[in-house]
Amino acid sequence: MFSNSLVELDRAHLVHPVASYRGHERMGVRILKNAKGATVTDAAGHRLIDGFAGLWCVNAGYGQESLIEAATRQLSELPYATGYFSLGSEPAIRLAAELAERAPGDLNHVYFTLGGSDAVDSTVRFIRYYWNANGKPEKDQFISLGHGYHGSSTVGAGLTALPAFHAGFGLPFDWQHKIPSHYVYRNPVGTDPSAIIAASLKALEAKIAEVGGAERVAAFFAEPIQGSGGVLVPPAGWLRAVRKLCQDKDILFVADEVITGFGRTGPLFACEEDGVVPDLMTVAKGLTSGYVPMGAVFMSHKVYDVIADRAGENAVGHGYTYSAHPVCAAVGLEALRLYEGGLLDNGRRAGARLMAGLESLKDHSLVGDVRGRGMLAAVELVVDKERKTPLPTTAEPARRIFDRAWDNGLIIRAFPQGVLGYAPPLCCTDAEIDAIVAATRKTLDQTLADKDVRQAMA
Ligand code: PLP
Repeated sequence: MFSNSLVELDRAHLVHPVASYRGHERMGVRILKNAKGATVTDAAGHRLIDGFAGLWCVNAGYGQESLIEAATRQLSELPYATGYFSLGSEPAIRLAAELAERAPGDLNHVYFTLGGSDAVDSTVRFIRYYWNANGKPEKDQFISLGHGYHGSSTVGAGLTALPAFHAGFGLPFDWQHKIPSHYVYRNPVGTDPSAIIAASLKALEAKIAEVGGAERVAAFFAEPIQGSGGVLVPPAGWLRAVRKLCQDKDILFVADEVITGFGRTGPLFACEEDGVVPDLMTVAKGLTSGYVPMGAVFMSHKVYDVIADRAGENAVGHGYTYSAHPVCAAVGLEALRLYEGGLLDNGRRAGARLMAGLESLKDHSLVGDVRGRGMLAAVELVVDKERKTPLPTTAEPARRIFDRAWDNGLIIRAFPQGVLGYAPPLCCTDAEIDAIVAATRKTLDQTLADKDVRQAMA
């Protein structure tokens, strides 16, 4: 019982995020030891291609010396500076300015957080403050999308639409509402883009009416591509259409770019591709390529000004000890330099190869759908392509497919509904992309040989 092996210590003491605690105790931890580029090596010396960039965050890849140097330099010079009391540090100021310059439209004001969940949580606070400041305190209802993920804070988890984040937690709150996702592959109106966009607009209008009209709705939240819900890519024009509806109805539109930001889908921000300027935008993950924790909220000039004017000489009571942390900001600045110095271009090239490779798996009996944009993709498995029947739950896709891919030298995200998620580092070589596709095909062939899968196909 008191073994000091890492596995035993982990089992006894380390609580893992979004895990079955008992399941994890039974299985034990897999310890990652080191990594370089797109390859990670576990404690037993097994080398794998990280097809998920950690948790869709190590966009620059592992072992980028300049990121390590930026952090160590800043650690020696000034390891901490508070942003309270009107103090600051050079890297945080420069990073805010560089980001504002590149962000869509007038998203010129940046509040730094430690990750995505507290960025989402911060937007909710800013939005409530904004409507109060605007003399419309009754605008206090929030709408988000089915299959959406907006983090794990008490408030954000209620905007999230994944059942595990609600059950037993007393969520969502009664002011948090959902409309169905665009989920093209399984949309009840079919796959026609204009029908899907029309259905979403109708659902949003209906929800607004149901909660008491636009004068009650504070904000609508959407990811440009839904990540944790299974990598759901909306039809072209969808984001612009819902953004316009929000604008017409004086509802703030929040783009949650925690996954899609920093080259994941091609450009620096996915909104750019859709020609959308949100009122607020959240980022994290790729901001520092996961090397150190950092997220951010971008506020439009309009939102910032209303808050600033209302507070006047009083403090706006929102802040974190580690907001605008100088070490994280130094890493963020260098990550930005790497993205623009070639990683975005490489990611675009590698993303096209990844999508073509995954498309080539469509001939496999288990592949129902392939979707994605840039270096963000998914393969949805079915046992009947005509009926789109998911894998049986007995096949335990999240566990069995993940383990199999692992044994085949590939880390992917295996969602419980039988969706394989991909978000490789932007530094991937052609050979690494090809290896991701080859290991996936091998994993699918092995899964096709499973007795319960074959039975479900019969
Ligand atoms: N928002 C989105 C869209 C995310 O995908 C995530 C995390 O995956 C979050 C928010 C929460 O970010 P974090 O895990 O850094 O708190």
